[in-house]
Amino acid sequence: ALSFGIDEALKQLGLQEINHGTSTGVHSFGSGELIESFSPVDGQSIGKVTSTTKEEYEKVIQTATKAFHHWRKVPAPQRGEIVRQFGEKLRELKEPLGKLVSYEMGKSYQEGLGEVQEMIDICDFAVGLSRQLHGLTMHSERPGHRMYEQYHPLGIAGIISAFNFPVAVWSWNTALAWVCGDVCVWKPSEKTPLCGVACQSIIAEVLRENNLPEGISCLINGDYTVGEFMSHDKRIPLVSATGSTRMGKIVAQAVAARLGKSLLELGGNNAIIVTPDADIKMTVIGAVFGAVGTAGQRCTSTRRLIIHESIYDKVKKALVDAYQQLRIGNPLDENNHVGPLIDLDAVKMYNSALQKVAEEGGNIIVEGEVLSGEGYESGCYVKPAIVEADNTFKIVQEETFAPILYLLKYSGDVENAIAMQNDVAQGLSSAIMTNNLREAERFLSVAGSDCGIANVNIGTSGAEIGGAFGGEKETGGGRESGSDAWKVYMRRQTNTINYTAELPLAQGIKFDL
Ligand code: NAD
Repeated sequence: ALSFGIDEALKQLGLQEINHGTSTGVHSFGSGELIESFSPVDGQSIGKVTSTTKEEYEKVIQTATKAFHHWRKVPAPQRGEIVRQFGEKLRELKEPLGKLVSYEMGKSYQEGLGEVQEMIDICDFAVGLSRQLHGLTMHSERPGHRMYEQYHPLGIAGIISAFNFPVAVWSWNTALAWVCGDVCVWKPSEKTPLCGVACQSIIAEVLRENNLPEGISCLINGDYTVGEFMSHDKRIPLVSATGSTRMGKIVAQAVAARLGKSLLELGGNNAIIVTPDADIKMTVIGAVFGAVGTAGQRCTSTRRLIIHESIYDKVKKALVDAYQQLRIGNPLDENNHVGPLIDLDAVKMYNSALQKVAEEGGNIIVEGEVLSGEGYESGCYVKPAIVEADNTFKIVQEETFAPILYLLKYSGDVENAIAMQNDVAQGLSSAIMTNNLREAERFLSVAGSDCGIANVNIGTSGAEIGGAFGGEKETGGGRESGSDAWKVYMRRQTNTINYTAELPLAQGIKFDL
């Protein structure tokens, strides 16, 4: 039996037939190739799922299409009620699901719970939204005419998600898509397939209890080839894809080639600007959490600190001191701050980034290292590193999905820091630490940060669901979650109604017969 109650959590999630620690457990979801899920926490096999074949995919799309024809006619507030029940189930299962997220993905148990809380939050948001999917009423230029707009569901929303938020990203999409009247087909990351199975079981139960077709929520498994089924499929009007910029460029082109819609949530290269007026204590907590939380594998992880030269040494020393306090180990043990990377490939990328930055002239001030020995058997635990670097280094311009923090120095005005912060290809999250109102407002102004998220006296990671989430440039331009992000899941229709016995034409055009 596993410590930290993993066995019990799997049982509560209905995954007991996936035998932990053996290679015999097969959860049958299809007949394709087996994907085995290994925990980066201890290297053990958690279970296997089968990937979806093309034939099975065809069946899934037929099931989803049929379900859509029913679901779109269910009034939106009633769809909201289903999402409310789903949120209730998530409340009941918050601990086991949070544990599975932590064990399969490797983030701390606290962050695993936080991820499930985000799912609950977006459900609550979507329930309220289900009564507010409103369009505008406009004044017609023609007498006796009424003009308004309404939003109708799109159909099937295809969701492709990344390993680092194995459950929340799905719910950001589905909770909104469902109240909008869409049905969803989800391909989770092949690195976290059991999180996908667990979520699907939870919603399937809610749908069953309400006599609704399970096709409202469909799960397909596999690697990028299964994702490609969706990006090329014209029966899927919207593909929401979260992952690397490399993946986003491929998916966007495939979807655009058939003039479908894509919602892209791609890589970030997020910076915190630290000005002479910053609160250093807050800066250190925000920067360290942002850089090492989820072992540096959040799209919003802090990768660059842009520090004013006048306080550079002070901040650097405080950071180095803080890094000495970090405890690295099993993320289910709440005494630890930093868990493992997702897999051995990620460890390779971490090593290679450290090597590259050294070759480019970076000065490593907190050394990185792959940890070994007791508790580190999976080979996925690495030491968070800090490197003094230059913004122009090739490796600094890239997103390395690992806990490597680059310190960059600026002099003069805050404009110089903003220019550096913007001088990367990605545009997801950004932050400024300052108690100076003028600096803060310049950072938020039209000439300020070019990112989708710009924070003042908060780090780069840890967004709330109420705001629209996403970023510009190579981050892909999509927005999910709060505000009016729901509109992407619907099609807008403009309606003009003539209640007279005349047929006046717009723009006063005369046409008599
Ligand atoms: P990845 O790009 O390797 O994979 C993401 C998903 O895309 C997986 O499900 C994968 O199977 C699928 N995929 C890959 N190639 C595909 C293709 N050609 N066609 C269709 N599907 C394809 O990313 P990852 O390593 O799982 O996740 C890390 C990346 O995700 C980072 O770049 C991170 O910044 C990004 N991310 C972004 C956000 C955001 O909201 N902006 C959130 C989480 C993660």
